[in-house]
Parts: sequence; structure tokens; C-alpha cells
Amino acid sequence: MDRGEKITWLKFLLMKYCKLCLQPDSRPNTVFTEKGICPACSYFDALKQVDWQERFEMLEDVDVEEVLNRLEVLSELKRR
Ligand SMILES: [Zn+2]
Repeated sequence: MDRGEKITWLKFLLMKYCKLCLQPDSRPNTVFTEKGICPACSYFDALKQVDWQERFEMLEDVDVEEVLNRLEVLSELKRR
């Protein structure tokens, strides 16, 4: 085994894997939590904390006509 192969094996052995989904930490900009959880699994867990009923009610309160009017004004401004 030459030096390059040894380095490759060493990198392979030192890789960490997410404790939930086994994704390796070799992907660029991947930072695991202290508990060894990858960003995707952390995000998935965070979604469980979202009050979806509250969000749905917020969405229901959106005045669609007002949004459309504002979009129309913006598109007119862009044309100038
Ligand atoms: Zn994961």
C-alpha cells in the first residue's frame, strides 16, 4: 500500500457517520451536532416542533387580493 492509499484509508476510517441516517461527514460544509446528527436529520427533527395548525391559520389570514395588488404595482414599477 503506497502513501496515497494509506491516506485514503485513514480518511475513510476517520469519517464520522450520522447516528440516524449514516450520511458521512465528508460532504462539504457538513457539520454534525454534538450528538453526531447530520444537518438533514437535525432539520427534520426541527420540523416536528413546528405548529402546523398555527401556520395554516396564518396562511388563511393572508389577504390574497392585497398580495395580488402589490404584485401588480411591483410589476408596473419594473416596466418603467
Ligand atoms: Zn442524518
